[in-house]
Amino acid sequence: MIIVKKAEELVAMRIAAKKTATILHKVASKVAPGVTTKELDEYAAELAKKAEGRCAFYGYHGFSGHICSSVNEEVVHGVPGRRVINNGDVVSIDFGLVYGGFVGDTAITVAAGEIDPEWQRLLDTTQECLAAAIGKAVEGNRLSDISNAVQVVAEGAGFSVVRDFVGHGIGREMHEDPQIPNYGPPGRGPVLKAGMTFAIEPMINLGVHKTETLNDGWTVVTKDRLPSAHFEHTIAVGKGKAEILTIPDLDS
Ligand code: MG
Repeated sequence: MIIVKKAEELVAMRIAAKKTATILHKVASKVAPGVTTKELDEYAAELAKKAEGRCAFYGYHGFSGHICSSVNEEVVHGVPGRRVINNGDVVSIDFGLVYGGFVGDTAITVAAGEIDPEWQRLLDTTQECLAAAIGKAVEGNRLSDISNAVQVVAEGAGFSVVRDFVGHGIGREMHEDPQIPNYGPPGRGPVLKAGMTFAIEPMINLGVHKTETLNDGWTVVTKDRLPSAHFEHTIAVGKGKAEILTIPDLDS
């Protein structure tokens, strides 16, 4: 069942989501050659503590990180650790925060130093996929209009859409109904209503769409080990226009 949030619940979600996005923005700004993913993780933990929030991923099914950090061929769920970020890497950071009883979930992929122009095009396209998907999150549309928008933009640019992981409803729980694939025909699934809140998160690969999970049980990598990009926003479906909730407070 897709939960439609009441006005006061949306107020609380805006606060949680803004805190989430602000922390992600600060952590992402630390990505640079020579930095380890563990250092990014510790910074996120420190910022979450200061914000009086709880890191949503930490301890989730035993996950040991406060963020997911996924470098290059790592698609999602990378476990922060000793991996040193090199010049030319792309680093995806996914962060979830619980605050005031609601969860915010947001991800970004950033370049470390100078990256291959084709990798930059992958990042730009994935951001365009997210924007196109959010553009479809309006009352009266069908759920798969969101999915289709991602696929059209990604494949139109010559990239492939990860099928094994999906976006999701979000609210008091990090994962609520519905599941939101990033591919498929438009015009299917539930009709969207204002007040539904979703985490929309295209994962787009430079090469094949297939993925596999490493022996750590978490880190998802592309089958061909070519790079992958991931952008995510928590949004509220609106009448005529969606509202992006995970907008960072750049002054804080
Ligand atoms: Mg998510």
